[in-house]
Amino acid sequence: AAKREHGGRYRFFDPELYIAATARAQLRHSLQGALAARQFELYYQPRVDLATGRLCSMEALLRWRHPELGMVPPAKFIPIAEESGLICAIGQFVIEEACQQMALWRAAGLAVVPVSINVSAHQFGHGGVHAHLAMHLARHHLAGAMLEVEITESAMFAEGVDVHGELAALRELGVRLHVDDFGTGYSSLAQLQRLNMDVLKIDRAFTSELTVSPEGRVLFQAIVSMAKALNMKIVAEGVETAGQLAALIALGCDEGQGYLFAAPLPARQAGGLLSRPQLMSVLEAVGEVAL
Ligand code: C2E
Ligand code: MG
Ligand code: MG
Ligand code: MG
Repeated sequence: AAKREHGGRYRFFDPELYIAATARAQLRHSLQGALAARQFELYYQPRVDLATGRLCSMEALLRWRHPELGMVPPAKFIPIAEESGLICAIGQFVIEEACQQMALWRAAGLAVVPVSINVSAHQFGHGGVHAHLAMHLARHHLAGAMLEVEITESAMFAEGVDVHGELAALRELGVRLHVDDFGTGYSSLAQLQRLNMDVLKIDRAFTSELTVSPEGRVLFQAIVSMAKALNMKIVAEGVETAGQLAALIALGCDEGQGYLFAAPLPARQAGGLLSRPQLMSVLEAVGEVAL
């Protein structure tokens, strides 16, 4: 659409919009060859049990190493992959890679923890998540409980997709279901419980408010107690400070994930954590805050 400028003239060409659109078109183009060119890689970010300070799971986070642009963040390319339908093939890569990595760690004699993967609504819409998961779990002799699936509220209630049926099928496999970025969508806890979600991952916006305002703390507390009443586990996303950790422990939050514990790591480094899963002395960290 034409833009009206101060002088009353219409301007049809916006260089900034043009550059953004061109960059997007270029990304879309190079995304098409990225799988075949083996430019994708999974990083792994630990989740920590706040009662013990131990590693309890790792989230697989997709990385795209573009030959010219370097690392392209998922926030930039996942939406393009969803629009173009490429997300299905990319999602299959993620499932395959995560299962294979767990098998490699196990073969190296490491005590493997479950890996959680992120799934888009588009993948459910086109089926295959369940079949693909089942196939790769079986291929590597992995129990369903070794995989967790994270899905955002908006994806869960996407129109025209039988997410309910897909989730039920995954649960049959023993896969645990996580609500990702809780609090950023419009679902109610009642809806989530009806879908039998196991774990609520509270968006990092709430974690960062926790130690900033009394309201932030009250809000977090309310989410924790409702989730507990509904039998869901609570994970705090984006834990960055010892102060936040202390507050989370005081509120009875079950698990945490964030830079305080570890950033997403390449598989080799993540494997290193499996041999020393005591990620932090929780009492120590909380003690530091009390001083
Ligand atoms: P997410 O699933 O909510 O993942 C958490 C994001 O927060 C990750 O960003 C992670 O690197 C970042 N993060 C972790 N700890 C901290 C912290 O303490 N502070 C801050 N500021 N950030 C933290 P990342 O890796 O850039 O991924 C962004 C999003 O892209 C993910 O959000 C997820 O929605 C999507 N994504 C990543 N991998 C995949 C995938 O394989 N498939 C699909 N469909 N989506 C993916
Ligand atoms: Mg996630
Ligand atoms: Mg999240
Ligand atoms: Mg997110």
